[in-house]
Amino acid sequence: MAEAPAQERTIPQGGVVTRASGPARAMERLGLQRDIDLALHLPLRYEDETRLTRIADAHDGESTQVEGVVTEARVEYRPRRQLVARIADDSGTLVLRFVNFYPSHQKTLTRGTRVRARGDLRVGFFGREMVHPAFKAVDADTPLAGTLTPVYPTVAQLPQAYLRKAIASALQRTPLAEVLPPDALPPGLPSLRQALQRLHHPPPDASLAALTDHADPAWQRLKFEELLAQQLSQHEARRERAHLKAPVLHGTRDGLRDRLLAALPFTLTAAQQRVAREIGTDLAAPKPMHRLLQGDVGSGKTVVAALAAAQAIESGWQCALMAPTEILAEQHFRKLVQWLAPLDVGMAWLTGSRKGKARAQMVERVASGEAALVIGTHAVIQHDVHFAKLGLAVVDEQHRFGVQQRLQLRRKLALQGLEPHLLMMSATPIPRTLAMSYFADLDVSTIDELPPGRQPVVTKLFADGKRDEVVARIRDEVGHGRQVYWVCPLIEESEKLDLQNATATHGQLCAALPDKMVGLLHGRMPAAEKAAVMSLFTGGQMQVLVSTTVIEVGVDVPNASLMVVEHAERFGLAQLHQLRGRIGRGAQASVCVLLYSAPLSPTAKERLRAIVETHDGFEIARRDLEIRGPGEFMGARQSGDALLRFADLAEDAPLLQHARAVAPKLLDQHPDAARAHVERWLGGKAEYFKA
Ligand code: ADP
Ligand code: MG
Repeated sequence: MAEAPAQERTIPQGGVVTRASGPARAMERLGLQRDIDLALHLPLRYEDETRLTRIADAHDGESTQVEGVVTEARVEYRPRRQLVARIADDSGTLVLRFVNFYPSHQKTLTRGTRVRARGDLRVGFFGREMVHPAFKAVDADTPLAGTLTPVYPTVAQLPQAYLRKAIASALQRTPLAEVLPPDALPPGLPSLRQALQRLHHPPPDASLAALTDHADPAWQRLKFEELLAQQLSQHEARRERAHLKAPVLHGTRDGLRDRLLAALPFTLTAAQQRVAREIGTDLAAPKPMHRLLQGDVGSGKTVVAALAAAQAIESGWQCALMAPTEILAEQHFRKLVQWLAPLDVGMAWLTGSRKGKARAQMVERVASGEAALVIGTHAVIQHDVHFAKLGLAVVDEQHRFGVQQRLQLRRKLALQGLEPHLLMMSATPIPRTLAMSYFADLDVSTIDELPPGRQPVVTKLFADGKRDEVVARIRDEVGHGRQVYWVCPLIEESEKLDLQNATATHGQLCAALPDKMVGLLHGRMPAAEKAAVMSLFTGGQMQVLVSTTVIEVGVDVPNASLMVVEHAERFGLAQLHQLRGRIGRGAQASVCVLLYSAPLSPTAKERLRAIVETHDGFEIARRDLEIRGPGEFMGARQSGDALLRFADLAEDAPLLQHARAVAPKLLDQHPDAARAHVERWLGGKAEYFKA
């Protein structure tokens, strides 16, 4: 059919690609290379070309296919240039209207031609019409489509028709043999071949609703396949790990750990004590720990990590602590120096900005073992950094590290002969049951309690037009000797725009508060400059800090009592929650103002409402999951590798449970089937799930 959008009309002759350009390259970019990749590229929706409706029977607003003979066609110039054709069947007439059209449209739509047209039907004052329908010339006996027509996700350079052809032939070619024994499957599901055939080319009687909301058994089969592949690779990774040896970090009585506990200015919460015990037990075992420590912002994960580090160090091993940004790494460093330096622990500090002699010295201290605790950014895992005796690696905000970096870390550590213990920390909490079943290869410890005496933060929504009110509020706050954060969004595609935005706001605030110090902090500043701004703010000389999201994680300034987030609608919920966690750390009540630009989409509204109403990071994560789906939620956006394409962890919990139960049995009883399944689904990506 001659589809209306221009990109859909460049159909290659006979599907032959003459240059490795255009569609072929676009397919490559979409990762559609192997036949199986194409077979697994599933339609977004379908068009129904399997039936014809008599023109008189077509209803207003319905997507309809009709057939008729052109009775007149002409170009009209009012209200603007457009092609208007009228077709008739034995029941009535219908106008086809094209505001954008090409000579080919005019050539087809001539008097007497029989055409089949499909589009949304409107019944207006002048009768029935379709605007920009898809259409083609037909004979009276041109057969109707036997199945629903798939509409695939694609890009401009890859025409729908080209993709349809490529996928249909890949589906024919790929063997799709059943590799799973029948009893591994949930009952009542079709074979993989049947499922894919049905999803690409559903029969006319298939329920479109069941297909689009993924409830159709064919979808269930696919989701199960995917979840099973993920579970198999995780179980396999867990088994591999069980064979690895790690140093036994048993600790010593009255050692560093106990002395650190005694020296802390606070007592641990019950939750901190519990997770510290869980970690301590892991460290004392001869197999490598692989544990996620999750806890809301401000729940006190750092001290738990410090206790683990102390246990490693008093057992005679080194500990590395890695954070995603320099600012955060530096904060950790300061805090840990404060806690551990008085106890005579040698420390090293490694980041990207530390270069030359200073860096060489640090690397040397790491290699000699003189530095028992090494803190830094991913500079810690650079190729020239060698540890004398690494026993424990702690990764803070683990989801902020790409999968590649996490793999690199594991590879590096594996070189040591003994595998070190690994502790990952995250303030983006994953609902516990979800984490436990999804990450079969991960143990999870959760701090579900905040230290006593925290002031809840009040969150308010303001339309961007009310900026002046917000500025007045800032004036008031700094007048009382308190400090303020103003956060501007990070626009990923354009750091430049990003900067403009923050710079403009900085200028406005400087003008509005002439007698106060207003600082600016953004990702592209040299590290030394960043550090200088940060220390002015931490030291209290600077009252207002305008920043892009570089302050997102870990910053700790208890005197800051007001935070303004500009374009709050552009942030993820978890991110907003993290940001908000920067205030409410001192004795005074704190307020978080979310500025948004109206109008908000319904989803954006719902999301912002969630953040205003909820203070519990787990609840926010749960709502985020509902509103956005787990792909982004799991940090896939940061790493660029979506973990699940088809399954939805929130919706498909029963399938996940089944996959989780079947995976170990399959690995034991049908190892070949398990391997073939993982290969089919993950190919070279199986490693990713182990990172
Ligand atoms: P996060 O879990 O977000 O990394 P931090 O480890 O930065 O939280 O802790 C937040 C603040 O709470 C720090 O200033 C820390 O010293 C303090 N803190 C941690 N545990 C306790 C506790 N049990 N009692 C009081 N304050 C605590
Ligand atoms: Mg932290």
